[in-house]
Amino acid sequence: MKEQLKNTLFDLIKIKSVGTNLGEIKKVADYVETRLKDAPLVKRWEHGGKHAVFVSLNSDTSLKVLFVGHLDVVDAEEEQFVPKLEGDRILGRGALDMKGPDAVMIELADKLIKEGRNLDLGFLFTTDEEVGSEDGVAYVLKNGFINAEFAVIPDGGGDFNLVIASKGVLHVKITCHGKATHGSRVWEGENAIEKCIDVFEKIKHSGLFPKEPCNIEEHWHNTINLGKLTGGDSVNRVPDHAEMFLDIRFVAPLTVEKTKEEIKKYLPSDADFEVISYGEPVETPTDNPYLLRVKDSIKEVLHKDVRFIKEHGATDARFFAEKGIHSVILYPIGGNIHGKGEWVSLSSLETLFYIFETFVEKALK
Ligand SMILES: [Zn+2]
Repeated sequence: MKEQLKNTLFDLIKIKSVGTNLGEIKKVADYVETRLKDAPLVKRWEHGGKHAVFVSLNSDTSLKVLFVGHLDVVDAEEEQFVPKLEGDRILGRGALDMKGPDAVMIELADKLIKEGRNLDLGFLFTTDEEVGSEDGVAYVLKNGFINAEFAVIPDGGGDFNLVIASKGVLHVKITCHGKATHGSRVWEGENAIEKCIDVFEKIKHSGLFPKEPCNIEEHWHNTINLGKLTGGDSVNRVPDHAEMFLDIRFVAPLTVEKTKEEIKKYLPSDADFEVISYGEPVETPTDNPYLLRVKDSIKEVLHKDVRFIKEHGATDARFFAEKGIHSVILYPIGGNIHGKGEWVSLSSLETLFYIFETFVEKALK
């Protein structure tokens, strides 16, 4: 299996499927579709220039288990698109994030297809995760093209620990309006930047966000970041216009809607409020039967106890959470994601393959 995984991963790394490179995005989707063309059901969607490939092992689009991978990568220097094997490490852009795990999914699907297995199992490959997933996972799920009871997303965590929760995210732009005047006669104007700062201070101290250092374990709490503030054009002028961008991360029971409501309480009546992006928080119950089978499979293959972990950043799991679909996220061993020298351990990819194979048998028998 190692040799097959290596060859498939090498093929994938050589395709420069950076989000802006639509030709290569199509090429990488073509590669996967061709590899898995004999599946009982193969579907292909194109939206916004991005491609998604779906295969089902029983011709159904509503499945018990769905494996989810993205085939796009972040940009890199030319040499990173030439895969290298050094000892047990495969180096190249996407080796870990996540063409290595994609190779595992492809080889597993390929094996089950060749064996003619009829399973309540699907594989989804998208090409826009690094740029927000709106044309991939979000597009496919929101339109109801496919459905699942449980999603396995090998795109986070580390060392085979299981990510079962991630924070919700709300990115908003708030525009405050004021009245311009000369900087020497401030009483005649209204400073829009100061208004923005005032709104920010009110939100920050509303009780939603603990003050750092918070002494709360893992910082599993809501946070707010004023990421960008612009306005004004001159030191001696009172600005009549200012915009601020807030990055809010939150945990259940807060939802996107509830967070929006909370923020809006502190806005002046003439302020503009715009949501830039959002995602619901993810929490898979620790007694979810599929999750427990993933855990058992890791224990069986790796002989180690698995930790359940929480992640602060948003993942594709948020789109599944929105549909009420529970999920788990895990990674093989590797490093330098998005950086120079990105690598994955080839033997850990093989381990991931056996974990997935064991899980499929346990979950779908
Ligand atoms: Zn904290």
